[in-house]
Amino acid sequence: MTSVAGWSIEDLGLNGEVRPVVRAPAPVLATAGERVDPCGPEVLQLAADLVATMRVSPGCVGLAAPQIGVSAQVFAVDVTGHPKARTVHGTFVLCNARLGEASQWNKGREGCMSVPELTGDVKRAGRVVVVGDLPGGGATEITTDAFEARALQHEIDHCAGLLFLDRVAGAHAIHTRKVHL
Ligand SMILES: [Zn+2]
Repeated sequence: MTSVAGWSIEDLGLNGEVRPVVRAPAPVLATAGERVDPCGPEVLQLAADLVATMRVSPGCVGLAAPQIGVSAQVFAVDVTGHPKARTVHGTFVLCNARLGEASQWNKGREGCMSVPELTGDVKRAGRVVVVGDLPGGGATEITTDAFEARALQHEIDHCAGLLFLDRVAGAHAIHTRKVHL
């Protein structure tokens, strides 16, 4: 088991490329991503591209491979500095992630770069254990809560071909953004 705390995107030594973000209703966003070899060179480059694209996007706390047009189970997360975050693991990328344990379900507002005009109220677990593979590393397990737990569940959904719009209770739980990012 590799610790996410000992993993850094910089250690891959790759230059990430900023990629265009795909918007709904692109079919790739509704397609379950393939499992990947976390040590494959194309997966390492994908990890670097996801982080580079996330970093140049204001307010972006997570980005999944389908959002840059790649149907794969890979995503980046970084909730550092977010007011609703409690536990924070910094910038990391996970491959083949799945929810191990989930508890403390609660409703919260979510947005998505692939659905820029809307936000939605989505029920998510407030405490989770997520298992997956670190790019270039081994299997890992992340225990987290609050906003980081929500971001992880949102990105795991992307890798399964699901958007937050697929998780809302109904039209009443969808809102138009007042300010366009
Ligand atoms: Zn999203």
